[in-house]
Amino acid sequence: MVSITCHGGVGEIGGNKILVEDGDTRIFIDFGMSFGRRGMFFEEYLKPRAANGIVDLLFTGLVPELEGVYRKDLLKHAGMKVHDYPSVDAVMLSHPHADHANYISFLDEDIPVYCGETALHVLKGVQGAGMRDIEREIVNFKRRPLMKKDYRNPPVEREFRTFRTGNKIKIGNMEIVPVHVDHSVPGAYGFVIHCSDSTIAYTGDLRMHGTRAGMTEDFIAKAADEKPDILLTEGTRVGQDRDQSEAMVQEECDRIIDSSRGLNIADFNFKDTDRFKTFYNIAKKQGRKLAISARDAVMLKHLADDAKAEVPLLKDGSIVLFKHKAASGTYSDEDYQTYEREVFSTPGITIIDAEEIRDHPNEYIFVGGFYSINDMIDVRPEKCTYIYSHSEPFNEEMAMDFDRLQNWIRLFGMDFRQSHCSGHANWADMKEMIKRIDAKLIVPIHTEKPEAFAELGKIKLVRQGERFQKI
Ligand SMILES: [Zn+2]
Repeated sequence: MVSITCHGGVGEIGGNKILVEDGDTRIFIDFGMSFGRRGMFFEEYLKPRAANGIVDLLFTGLVPELEGVYRKDLLKHAGMKVHDYPSVDAVMLSHPHADHANYISFLDEDIPVYCGETALHVLKGVQGAGMRDIEREIVNFKRRPLMKKDYRNPPVEREFRTFRTGNKIKIGNMEIVPVHVDHSVPGAYGFVIHCSDSTIAYTGDLRMHGTRAGMTEDFIAKAADEKPDILLTEGTRVGQDRDQSEAMVQEECDRIIDSSRGLNIADFNFKDTDRFKTFYNIAKKQGRKLAISARDAVMLKHLADDAKAEVPLLKDGSIVLFKHKAASGTYSDEDYQTYEREVFSTPGITIIDAEEIRDHPNEYIFVGGFYSINDMIDVRPEKCTYIYSHSEPFNEEMAMDFDRLQNWIRLFGMDFRQSHCSGHANWADMKEMIKRIDAKLIVPIHTEKPEAFAELGKIKLVRQGERFQKI
């Protein structure tokens, strides 16, 4: 008999950690970070302590109390019971967003992670740029406790098995079929899971109004064909019906930049390659260059390894690398981290600094946001249009950052504009999808309004950590 336990994504957007059990076969679908619960206890400067391994996360309920799933080094470090073999056979990762992927960091490395090929490139791109952080050790990790003498030892590489649409992945009693979907990050999939006595469909995160609506259509058609007993569905935008398409974002931002004088700042999530291409296209059309950070360049380099991602190359003439002031403030090599120095030495790329942008503001679109806004103190743009290309803030921390950003905008006297296309389906499209898939039971997750799905059929309102079976 199949059972499902949601250890996250319950009454909240993200944090999906879904345990599916069929006899002695057990898999997790996603193992993400819950922004909501994390924000209840932690913030930028108060983090779960790496020094305490997994204990801070268990104590605050950021990861569930489960035996046989966590890294042995962390359990041992915490003086907890260490298992011989993991109790879970695999993780099926739907897409590389933090709220679905990040807490894979804590899982036993003997649990293989299945994901799309592009998704793995994105994960490597994120981890390749930045300091090692215990909550972001998805691709590889350093064993804890981490002593100084071990700093130079190579990290433990996690086992990834990549899939493509239509592959049939056999894990114990289950056969899992991934099907691509369109979302605000490449490498996103939904799953159809055939178990011994039932079939489960899982949407992951998806939309129908994006640039690759056909991919989501493929998932819906496949899920409908399989007549699932249970549909685990996201519901991020319950009650919201208005959409901007990516083409509309491009048209709108093109108009804004065309009519602007001086510098333009484009503030968007770099993992959203559709948005990146939107601003790249605009830059080309307007004869400007996109000035990106070393961190974004690392992502671009990893995506360049993947033909399917279809992103422009770093050495493309319309992209330049912005070198920010760091440490000594003298642009000295020693001021930068290893990954930054590597990127700066890429053959064929142009590196610019704040002075160059100050002298030629009309030649650039600066790709940056709240966390790089103080670089503008060095630029002091006389005229500047700031394009905010994200969804509205949806939690307290984001709202506070948004308010601070507004203060900077006023301080610089910038012209503030907003333009965005959501990564999630609107409510009308969602209802249409659920009707077509026509599952016997709907399980709304990744939503703050699960009860709204009751008008669409028989629903199960899950509770955090509650195990339920097909009725
Ligand atoms: Zn997502």
